Amino acid sequence: MDIRIVNTCDSDCMYCLEQSLRKKQKFIPREVILKLLQQQRSNFPDDSILAFYGWNSLLHPNLTGIITDAKNLWFKSISLLTNTQGITQKYLEYLQSCGLTGISFYFHSLDSEIHNMIVQKWISLEELYKNISIIQKSWISYTCIIHVNQQNIGLLYKIVAELYIKYSVKNFEFIRVRLLSRAKNKFSKQLEILPENQEKDIAHLERILQKIKAQYEFIHFENK
Ligand code: SF4
Repeated sequence: MDIRIVNTCDSDCMYCLEQSLRKKQKFIPREVILKLLQQQRSNFPDDSILAFYGWNSLLHPNLTGIITDAKNLWFKSISLLTNTQGITQKYLEYLQSCGLTGISFYFHSLDSEIHNMIVQKWISLEELYKNISIIQKSWISYTCIIHVNQQNIGLLYKIVAELYIKYSVKNFEFIRVRLLSRAKNKFSKQLEILPENQEKDIAHLERILQKIKAQYEFIHFENK
């Protein structure tokens, strides 16, 4: 089960499809989420996988309580998606002790200029590396999410190799950036993947992924 627990984010990425979903109610109350989880457990007792996706779930002021509720309802896998802002070793240990089992984090580029352009300077590359290192040390399972765009498609193989070597990242999701009306079309030129790049760059990437025996998934890519 995938659910949103927040309607806000402390970043402003140029490809973000969530911006128009920003709501006045930034945080969905714990009681509302608990009811949803209870329903899910009674309707689908065999599905014990839970993911908090969308925005930065770490911002929820009652996150530890929500994770505890999920654990008490026998969700075996409880993960969240985050831009990593707000992670500290102590907080992550606490989340783990409440029942968190996994984290998915965004990564954009090894080049700090491209990184800054994509995240609009909301989190520096150094800070992101520091946070990935905290996640790595926690022994929690972790997945790197990369929104593939014209700025990073040619360097994906390098990103994968570096994250594997430095932070033992072996799980990846590659999401092709789709410039829907919700995305910021003023950035279309920088983001839209040129067709001539896609095939050879993705083939190169897949060779590296297979070499390191990574688990990976391509989303919104044709023939994948
Ligand atoms: S971290 Fe995710 S939700 Fe937040 S602005 Fe970036 S893409 Fe949007």
